[in-house]
Amino acid sequence: MSLRRALVECAVLSLQDSCVLYPCCKGCFSRIDIDSSETRLTCSKCGYSCARELLEYRYRLSVRVARGSCLFGVTIFGNCLNQFFGIHATGLQRFVADKSGYVDALSTSALLVEAVEECFIGKHFIFGIKITENDTEPWLGRPTGSNKMAQLIATQMILPEAADLRGCTVLSYFEEILHKTGEAKHCTTAKAKLQEEPYGQFYTIHKLVVSQMIHFGLLFVFLCLFQDHTVWTALSAPLRPGSSLWD
Ligand SMILES: [Zn+2]
Repeated sequence: MSLRRALVECAVLSLQDSCVLYPCCKGCFSRIDIDSSETRLTCSKCGYSCARELLEYRYRLSVRVARGSCLFGVTIFGNCLNQFFGIHATGLQRFVADKSGYVDALSTSALLVEAVEECFIGKHFIFGIKITENDTEPWLGRPTGSNKMAQLIATQMILPEAADLRGCTVLSYFEEILHKTGEAKHCTTAKAKLQEEPYGQFYTIHKLVVSQMIHFGLLFVFLCLFQDHTVWTALSAPLRPGSSLWD
């Protein structure tokens, strides 16, 4: 069966799957089950095994796209997505895991999906799609004979020449969203603290006024004592004949 590749420019409408990376076997690229408690993980397809901490991840981006009035699904795998994510899949997985302390793990995954949507949805890309002789080409608008939306595998994803998305990677969007979330969290905590202490601001002003009053009170007492001391010293000094008390 002959296989050929078609370059098709499409607009990305939505994600078909919110999971954009998976733990992968280095031997056959299949998904590796990480739910076991074993320190070594084994691929059920080819038997490849590796230590849990050396496990690698792989991108799998599945999107619904449109070319004119034709809609179809495209899934693209692997390192050709690195340039759009701004980092390789294993690096992104570690970055996400590190940030799980920043906001909770579920929120971190949701924020990553938000960053992926921000990066791809509504934008145009050229997909290098593998097609066989028997495949219908849904972008030609021919009836597929099925109500199901056609699903295709792309081996390449390219930015059209006119598009300039340099620096707009999933990683940069993710960092920006995390930053905003961190700021929002800080504001919420500060607000909650104020709400926990009703009249908190009043107490702060009150404390300031009292401390100022104490300060001036002490200064006044000190000045009085100083004046008394001068008077006492003057009184206790022996008067010379012809001199007055206040000389
Ligand atoms: Zn394998």
